[in-house]
Amino acid sequence: MARIIGGIGTSHVPTIGVAYDKGRQDERAWQPLFEGYKAVAGWLAEQEPDALVFFYNDHCTTLFFDCYPTFALGVGERFQIADEGAGQRPLPPLKGDVDLQKHIAESLVNDEIDLSVFQGRPVDHGCASPLPLLWPHEPDWPGSIVPIAINVLQYPLPTARRCFRLGQAVRRAVESYPQDLRVVVVGTGGLSHQVHGERAGFNDTDWDMRFLDLFRDDPEALLNMTHADYVRRGGAESVEQIMWLAMRGALPGPLRELHRNYYLATSTAMAVTLYEQADGQQVRNAGEQAGVRRSAGNPQLAGIEGLDGTYPFDIGVSHKALTLNRFLWNLRKEDCRRRFHDDEEAAMAAAGLSDQEQSLVRSRDWIGLIRSGANFFAIEKFARTVGVSNLEMYAQMRGETFEAFMQTRRVPEAR
Ligand code: FE
Repeated sequence: MARIIGGIGTSHVPTIGVAYDKGRQDERAWQPLFEGYKAVAGWLAEQEPDALVFFYNDHCTTLFFDCYPTFALGVGERFQIADEGAGQRPLPPLKGDVDLQKHIAESLVNDEIDLSVFQGRPVDHGCASPLPLLWPHEPDWPGSIVPIAINVLQYPLPTARRCFRLGQAVRRAVESYPQDLRVVVVGTGGLSHQVHGERAGFNDTDWDMRFLDLFRDDPEALLNMTHADYVRRGGAESVEQIMWLAMRGALPGPLRELHRNYYLATSTAMAVTLYEQADGQQVRNAGEQAGVRRSAGNPQLAGIEGLDGTYPFDIGVSHKALTLNRFLWNLRKEDCRRRFHDDEEAAMAAAGLSDQEQSLVRSRDWIGLIRSGANFFAIEKFARTVGVSNLEMYAQMRGETFEAFMQTRRVPEAR
């Protein structure tokens, strides 16, 4: 069974990444910051966790306001580090464990944390700025990450208590994963800072210290604070400290603070902290007490495998067929349809479809596409592109002629 062995709190200021990439670790201005990470990096090297669950926020890099999720979990074997305007950073793509990510997503949703899932998208500095200070990455990262993005940009944000409950649910998810993995939870953001408006540059070190003390000793005192309270005390963008509370929710009971470093150089109070549960006890988790399932798999789908002719579209299927579904989905765009009509073979090759997928598209094999993980509503775009109706697809999927299928309908002439 997987378990959570500790927690890390860290700022994710982009300048940390810039200074790191430029090798400024020993410069007087940066040395106090980088020194502060060494104890945590040492603990990680000693503990050798398999996975880090990262509570972070996307800064309008990979996710945009046309559809901005409150909680979004990343699924993928690799995550590119986002180019945020200054070019690609010299770091390998982050690693992911799709089975673990899928399990956590299923467990969270079944635990009534309604989250989005993203795939094939890079992660930005919210996750990638502190990571190389914590983990070695030559030639590759030593473990995987589970990125969980939290909306801290566009109000309404999740409440502090909601983030804490997300963390509690993550703990239940990790502890119901059957593989024997060691997991660390990481809360990122802050501390005090404001990056916009006439109040830009606001800091309050007294509040930062108070926050860190309450975080360790009395998190309940932080859970009823409104977003306005956080903004008033720590500056507008310090509201991202609610992401630390997600980490705290995953570490119930009293904490032992093994490390705290605080450095305020220009505009953001940069902190890094390390926690283990006090006295090393494995706190019996609330999920177990509440009888929450403790096995992998989605209980809402139990028994569905016995239902013939039905293909549930879950994260595993979606992940395997992402390239195919993206190709089909893109056919909603006029220019993609034109390219497809001009040269079908070239369009499929350019989209990176496998030989088998190309064959299914070529032969308009609707049931074959479904069995290969294509989502019906992506397939619909393809069907419209080639002038096939849904009724014609249903007939083919059932293995019937169109006329025979229509004779099974109440009003066969309604076509
Ligand atoms: Fe941020």
